Amino acid sequence: MKVLAPSNKPRTDRIIILGSTGSIGVNTIEVVEHLNRLGSRRFEIVGLAAGTRLDELAAQAHALGVSHVASPDPGAKEHLSDLVENVHVGADAAVEMLHQIARPGDLVIGAIVGAAGIKPSIAALELGCDLALANKESLVAAGPLVLAAAERSGAKIIPVDSEHSAVFQCLHAGRQDREIAKVVLTASGGPFRTWTKDRMRSANVKEALNHPTWSMGSKVTIDSASLMNKGLELIEAHWLFGLGSDRLDAIFHPQSIVHSFVEFTDHAVIAQLSPPDMKLPIQYAISWPDRLPGSASRTDFTQFADLHFESIDRVRFPAIAMALEVIDQPSGAGAIFNAANEVAVAQFLQEKIPFGAIVDTVEATLERITPGEITTLADVLEIDHESRRVAQEILMASSDR
Ligand code: NDP
Ligand code: MG
Repeated sequence: MKVLAPSNKPRTDRIIILGSTGSIGVNTIEVVEHLNRLGSRRFEIVGLAAGTRLDELAAQAHALGVSHVASPDPGAKEHLSDLVENVHVGADAAVEMLHQIARPGDLVIGAIVGAAGIKPSIAALELGCDLALANKESLVAAGPLVLAAAERSGAKIIPVDSEHSAVFQCLHAGRQDREIAKVVLTASGGPFRTWTKDRMRSANVKEALNHPTWSMGSKVTIDSASLMNKGLELIEAHWLFGLGSDRLDAIFHPQSIVHSFVEFTDHAVIAQLSPPDMKLPIQYAISWPDRLPGSASRTDFTQFADLHFESIDRVRFPAIAMALEVIDQPSGAGAIFNAANEVAVAQFLQEKIPFGAIVDTVEATLERITPGEITTLADVLEIDHESRRVAQEILMASSDR
């Protein structure tokens, strides 16, 4: 559990946000503003990367006074160069920006959505920056490379995903691997927790985006409805905490108050509780290992007296069993699982395929490709590319029927 080892490298107060215009990115800026208002420590946001929302990126850059921004959109140069000194554009813009500005001990917030976050996550760690990681896809698709980059530089990966932040907090008293019996991730169940498989199959985009407890970007919201999010998170937990599929599980907890728990070998269970608000795990990743007065809402226990848990029906939600199988396979399986899901979710959001086709496509893509171990970035890019091609083919074939 290298991720849990105390850091022996001092942190600077500099923060770089990758995915600044998204849900996690915007929350991060609010948390930093809150922490700066407290006055005990002053954090400086020194770089921002985003995708296509250039007006939002420009407004953020202006308000924060950053001198470096990055976007894959070539139009960003014209759009932002009056406002910002250095505008990095192109497919590797975020990585290029990191190479120019990141210093060892800086904190990089990894909040790009999807496989686009893989290279920036690895680059941040290679440059000796601690990585506050929301972009679970980079661990799922490239776990061995992300961990190796951290190992080489001594930088830390601090989970931002609320479940993994919860586990991270539960394990804090320097717990040993042999003391952990099981890590159980909680899942709200999304909008379809009680729906039948048939009804779920033909759910529309509006229904799938209607998350009962969390407000998040569209991709992770769809993943939450299919439970592919919990599948991705089981694989993420496997890499972060070094646990096999036999010590990982997930359970429904519709109120999203208990963010996950750890069962120890003596059968003690330690959980982390708070209202569903990403500001808490974001703030903890920034202040870690300290705790600072919070910007997230407080827990009113009289409101949450009725905490409910139930096992996940693995027939209605095959993503859980699929993810546990992926963990037992060579590491390339994670890249297949992730890429096929990204392709299917994008098509579902464009209303080209039914909701039920998402999980079916992931399952069929995993059946079609035999995964190998990932040892280089080229391996990840190749398997990601091939999985996208196969997933597209499967979706085309099913739409012809
Ligand atoms: P959003 O869709 O709200 O935001 C995604 C961000 O990534 C945007 O800033 C987007 O820019 C940016 N982006 C997309 N592609 C690129 C690219 N090629 N280069 C640079 N930036 C890019 O997603 P969320 O904030 O909800 O999620 C981000 C990540 O965090 C995901 O991996 C998600 O699974 C994870 N996560 C999110 C949680 C949440 O509460 N939202 C909870 C736990 C994990 P633009 O919008 O300008 O195109
Ligand atoms: Mg989560």
